[in-house]
Amino acid sequence: MIVHRHLFGPGPTNAYPEATEALARPLLGHLDPVFLEIMDETCARLRETWGTAANRTLPLSATGSAGMEAAFVNAVHPGDVVVVAVNGLFGQRMCEVASRCGAEVVPVEHEWGTPVDPERVVAAHPSPAIVAAVHAETSTGVRSDIAALGRAVHEAGDALLLVDAVTSIGGIELRADDWGIDIGYAGTQKCLGVAPGLAPYTIDERAFARRVERPRSWYLDLGLLGGYVGDTRGHNPARTYHHTAPVAMVVSLHAALGRILEEGLENAWARHEAAGQALQDGLETMGLELFARAGSRLPELTTVRVPDGVDSAAVRRTLLERYDIEIGAGVGEYASSVWRIGLMGPNASPDAVRLLLGALGDVLG
Ligand code: PLP
Repeated sequence: MIVHRHLFGPGPTNAYPEATEALARPLLGHLDPVFLEIMDETCARLRETWGTAANRTLPLSATGSAGMEAAFVNAVHPGDVVVVAVNGLFGQRMCEVASRCGAEVVPVEHEWGTPVDPERVVAAHPSPAIVAAVHAETSTGVRSDIAALGRAVHEAGDALLLVDAVTSIGGIELRADDWGIDIGYAGTQKCLGVAPGLAPYTIDERAFARRVERPRSWYLDLGLLGGYVGDTRGHNPARTYHHTAPVAMVVSLHAALGRILEEGLENAWARHEAAGQALQDGLETMGLELFARAGSRLPELTTVRVPDGVDSAAVRRTLLERYDIEIGAGVGEYASSVWRIGLMGPNASPDAVRLLLGALGDVLG
């Protein structure tokens, strides 16, 4: 059965046509020179998209959560203090993952719907090994100021800054080097407009030098991965087998990144900004209340309060059945009182905004 949905939830989003077309190409072997060239170019395109000159920027063969695990498992030495800014579900998940890697976790809790406060995060511990935060909290629709956090962290000491960019990459401004991000991970299924399945990852020299030599994860061991991907500038001609790279996914990501860079990263950010603003204005005009704090709202992911007396799940079901539109429920205590509406990748468009507002207006009556 083939069903076409408008994926206007928190992800996955609909893919860019270029990414979908690439999935239909004949498979290549994962050590084929043609594929290795595509892999090298994908890493170069990722470097540009992250805003980094780091030598090790690559697509990990798994979803965003594996990016999170790779980030911590390669960086946390037993007993390291890891300060985690928590302002939603994914900050909470970072605490869990860091703790499983043997960290002494210091969570800095923030009210859901608000951004991370750099001063509070830095004041939480005098000498952490790592400070971690989520750039775009998908559970609440909030953007945190990573540039400000990076300044605060690096002024305060020599902690590494570890950032989740799963929902920000390709959709809003992201400048890993300028902001002092030492380790970053992302996902393909949000603003990059690719199916879920890869975790774009970047680590700078400082963090790589401090990494765990023999991390507890074999699959996500960056040292071993380097044997296959090289330093991602193609400086490793040996390219030894580590695992079978998901070649079709890499080719698809390569195509989507080509499309985004051709549009221009800043133009892609502006397109997401315009679509998100139009959606948020439209929702407020309909009398709905936005959840995330004004001034820190993500354009690519809007959180809106379910009006009193309205059955959240019934509205989502009707949108799906009548319009083939998927939107997301809230998370945790907001599961039935908030909707999450994503306009990511190709869906960051005026057409999508019109369709969504019209359909929601119809369903809400
Ligand atoms: N971090 C953030 C901010 C996310 O939004 C997500 C997924 O929605 C993840 C991490 C986990 O990524 P995945 O579901 O691809 O494993």
